[in-house]
Amino acid sequence: MGQIIACANQKGGVGKTTTVVNLSTYLALAGDAVLVVDLDPQGNATSGFGLDRTEIGHSVYEAIMEESPIVDLVLPTAVAGLSIVPSSISLAGAEVELAPLPQRERRLARILADIASTYDYIVLDCPPSLGLLTVNALTAADSVVIPIQCEYYALEGLSQLIATINLVRNHLNPDLAIKGVVLTMYDPRTNLSAEVDAEVRKYLGSTVFDTIIPRSVRLSEAPSYGLPIALYRRDSKGAEAYEAMALELRARDGKPVRSEGTRPSESAVDAAAAGKSFPNGDGQ
Ligand code: ATP
Ligand code: MG
Repeated sequence: MGQIIACANQKGGVGKTTTVVNLSTYLALAGDAVLVVDLDPQGNATSGFGLDRTEIGHSVYEAIMEESPIVDLVLPTAVAGLSIVPSSISLAGAEVELAPLPQRERRLARILADIASTYDYIVLDCPPSLGLLTVNALTAADSVVIPIQCEYYALEGLSQLIATINLVRNHLNPDLAIKGVVLTMYDPRTNLSAEVDAEVRKYLGSTVFDTIIPRSVRLSEAPSYGLPIALYRRDSKGAEAYEAMALELRARDGKPVRSEGTRPSESAVDAAAAGKSFPNGDGQ
């Protein structure tokens, strides 16, 4: 049975999507069968894998509204072993459309149950809110990964997120675990980053991943080429960090490190680079 991980934080721009795209990629490169589900109407995970939403014409919305079976919505990516159910702008209306429906918090859990056994990991990219889409994700998930940006007020909003997680545990999904908190956009040149690191570890202890994601221009450039960092600049610091995070997460799950490692093949990198020589221009 696959493990479902929701990447959530109602704060905007903390690195949820960057973490989903790159963590999932390195899980797949480590040999896991991985599915990303883009639950954010912004669709940044979808475009981060080079998919053009205007051309796709379907999304997780159709599954949530029970218009299509989820298996029909799964698309391949440039990463072997990694598929995605894309987002669409119609998801923006889902929060409101779901509200009067029965079992409105459990829709995603129900549809993912049909395909969970096909994957080792299903990774959910949540929008920056604690609305019904995020609640659906937390209800469907076995665990949550919480990215925290190394900045002023890093912990602001965390208590609200934890309160929501506890509400979901009490009413909808008692077994929901916190997989880990990951520090993102760490800048080793600033005292602030070090202070946030120390503070977060003081409060959250071993829940915090040892791996820290540094601030890296390469990580912020990769989505404009529609590529995960592993296929864009696999030797960059950001690539090394997300690879380490994926291995740490697998180790937390008791999975062995593959002797083949997690490097994408030369041919995969070349093929991806050939297909994406220019930014896709959607401002990601
Ligand atoms: P939203 O709440 O809007 O969904 P998010 O939490 O998903 O945002 P991202 O989209 O992953 O956050 O990141 C926000 C911005 O910061 C993006 O432009 C992204 O490219 C950039 N970014 C994320 N992580 C890093 C990093 N480690 N180094 C540099 N830039 C980063
Ligand atoms: Mg996002």
